[in-house]
Order: sequence, then C-alpha cells, then structure tokens
Amino acid sequence: MKKRITIIGNGFSSLFFIQYLLALQVVPFLNFFYRKVFSPYEITLIGNGEFIYFPAIPEFIVGKKNSRDIRIDIRSFLRRRNIHFIDDQVIDIKDSGRTVVTKNGSYSNDALFVGIGPAFQEDDIAGTREFTYSPCRGPDDMDAFMSALNSLDEGVIYLGFKLNKADGFVAGRGGQMYECACLLDYALKQRGVRDKFEIHLFSPNIEPGEKGAITDRLSERGIILDYGYEPNSFVKEGLQDEDGTLRKADLVLYSAGITGSELVKNSCLPVTKGGQIDVNKFGQVIGLDNVFAAGDCASHESPPQWVPHQAHMAQLRSQAAAKNMRAVLKGENPQQTYRYELSCILNMENDAMWLHMSSDDKPPFWDIFPRRSKILVHLKNFFESAYLFYLKYL
Ligand SMILES: Cc1cc2nc3c(=O)[nH]c(=O)nc-3n(C[C@H](O)[C@H](O)[C@H](O)COP(=O)(O)OP(=O)(O)OC[C@H]3O[C@@H](n4cnc5c(N)ncnc54)[C@H](O)[C@@H]3O)c2cc1C
Repeated sequence: MKKRITIIGNGFSSLFFIQYLLALQVVPFLNFFYRKVFSPYEITLIGNGEFIYFPAIPEFIVGKKNSRDIRIDIRSFLRRRNIHFIDDQVIDIKDSGRTVVTKNGSYSNDALFVGIGPAFQEDDIAGTREFTYSPCRGPDDMDAFMSALNSLDEGVIYLGFKLNKADGFVAGRGGQMYECACLLDYALKQRGVRDKFEIHLFSPNIEPGEKGAITDRLSERGIILDYGYEPNSFVKEGLQDEDGTLRKADLVLYSAGITGSELVKNSCLPVTKGGQIDVNKFGQVIGLDNVFAAGDCASHESPPQWVPHQAHMAQLRSQAAAKNMRAVLKGENPQQTYRYELSCILNMENDAMWLHMSSDDKPPFWDIFPRRSKILVHLKNFFESAYLFYLKYL
C-alpha cells in the first residue's frame, strides 16, 4: 500500500519539500510516468494554489516587478508530479497529526508536512493594521503602498521592523526593510524628488549607534537612522510615543515580528515561547509521530542567535525534513540535520551586497561572486527567473 502524505501550504517550504521528496535526476516527462507508476507515496497538498515569490516584492518600489510577475498558479507543477491538490484552508490538525481538517473536509495521512508560513505580531503596536503598509502582507498591500507613494510629491516616510527573538533566533524581516529603504531612496532620486522627502529607518532591535556595512549604505543615502526607537502606537498622522509626542509621517512601511498562525495555536501542534511550531533538529514536530514542519512557521532546536527566517533556510530545512520523512516511513530513524545559513542579496538597484553568515563558515557559491557589486542585482534576478521557470515548466 502506498503511504499517504499530506502537505499543508504551497509556499517555499512545501515546494522545496516536494522537490527533495521526489528528487529524481531524469527528464521531467519521464518523471511523470515514474511517479505515477512507481511512486511509493500518494501525496495530497492542501493550499490556495497560488505561490508568491516574496523576495521580489521590495522591487515594486522601483517599478521593476508587479503582482502579476510574482504570483504563480502552482496546480500544473503539482499535476506534473502526480500530487492531488485540494483548494482549501486547513482549520485544524487532530489525532496527533493523522487528521487534517479543512473548511470543507477532513483528510487522513500516514505522514504530514506543515509549511504554512508566518503570522505577524500585528497587535504588538496599536494601529499597525490600520495605519501601516507592509511588504510582508503580500503584493496587494505593497501595491496599495505604491499608489499612496505615487500620490505624494513631498513628505516623510518611515520604514521599520520589529523582531521576535523569544525562540533564540531572528523571527522578523530586518533585511527586507533595509532593502525597501534603499530602493525607496533610489526610486525618489529617479523621480527627481528625493530632496523633497525624509526617509527614516526605525527598529527597537538595533542598538543606537550601531555600525557596519548596512548602516553605511543607509547613511550614504541620507536615510535618517532611528535605531532603538519603537513607537507606542501608529496613528493617522504618523507615529506616537508613550508621552503623546507625535512623529509626523505621511506613510509608514512596517514589518512586525514573526510568530505562528491561528492554526498553530489552535491545533494539536506544540507551540514554542515565540508562538511557532516546536520542531527538533531533524524537522520533526516534537511529540507527534511522522509530522514534520519547516520554513517560517517552525522554530529551531538550539539555533545560532543570528539565524533568520528566509526562503533559503526553508530550503535547507525542507531538504532535511524530506529525507527524514522518507526514513521514518521506511521504519528507520531520522538522521539528516541541516546547516544554518543567512544568505541574501541586498538589492539597492545602483549597488548590492551579499549578506552572508553560516554555521560552518562555508562562503556562498564557493565565493565565486563578489560580496559587493551591482552585478549581484542581475544575479538575484537570475535566481528568481530560474526558480519561476522551474515552477512553471519543469
Ligand atoms: C518582502 C519580502 C522579501 C523577502 N526576501 C527574501 C530574500 O531575498 N531571500 C530569502 O531567502 N527570503 C526572503 N524572504 C523570506 C521568504 O519569503 C520566506 O522565508 C518564505 O516565504 C518562507 O516560506 P514558507 O513556505 O515558510 O512560507 P510562505 O512562503 O509564506 O508559504 C506559506 C504557505 O502556506 C499557506 N497557508 C498558510 N496557512 C494555511 C492554512 N491554514 N491552510 C492551507 N494553507 C495555508 C499559504 O497560502 C502559503 O502558500 C522575503 C520575505 C518578504 C516578505
């Protein structure tokens, strides 16, 4: 009998999980027949069918990307892999992971992979939902930010982020907000109105006086650094401090700390202090047999403090989870752990930096690329095109 695997979510972690679970080094056409006839698994994915390539959202600011470019209908990718797709939302996970309940049905499995992404701590600062935009809410919210930005000829714009460090690592989107700030500077210069705008970058998670390459890039662009600052609330006119002092802002682009979604809180999944799914170093959900999780919904076992939630980390974690799920379904013990690596290109359009740290000190791509060069902007675009080509056609 084929083992029944259920996958929840169709974001980076789930698609990487599928890639490594079904890894076969033959041409895609033959893959289809191989999976149909020989696959030991019967796989069901439950999601909304739309993959969003989040790393391209900051580029909306310079007009190089838009919603259409980064939304991919994932159903043909799944069909080519003989994966049954259920267009639905999961509302509960029961029976120690063996039953997944959706709005319209209920599905049982022999093994479960959870890749449901993040939720954001938007109740942390009052007024976040009402008075801020965020690239982390997806392309529609970023489109709304761009419309508001394009209606301004002058003004004050605050960009900021907050991190959730309760689980001992970086659950938040700092790098993305630095990128947005630099791209905003570039876009306003292109419009010839940069001198009519004030751009601020704030975060309670950066020490005032912090130095380093990112601070240098922000300072070079005349971005005002409100390091260490956290507003008490966001209001219509801007940011308000506890004593009532108002920092006037025409627009605020903000990313709240990352936590787990309602599904994490209200199902049988174990929850960490930071609100995420509690997993071990093999990607196994603690206390539940044959249940794995990876990506922005899952915590780490003993992580280094600097490790962030990233698509790149989701890939490393999903790879380990796929190998370990194959092992446990064969009755073996999981053995595959994953490396910790922060790796992303900070695109400033007229410049770029490769931000990198790893637990084993391995450089990115054997160090064949420069760490700071405008060439990296093209490389980042190449990675995106290659991945989207893979999803659409392979
Ligand atoms: C603006 C921005 C820029 C970024 N830039 C980079 C970058 O340059 N490099 C990098 O490595 N990372 C970057 N990231 C981070 C990266 O996008 C995330 O780490 C990655 O998307 C995490 O993958 P995931 O699968 O865990 O979550 P997601 O990609 O968010 O996918 C979660 C999936 O689960 C589905 N889902 C959620 N709840 C349910 C439910 N109840 N039932 C069914 N389905 C559900 C969602 O619909 C979605 O399909 C960026 C993120 C943002 C927001």
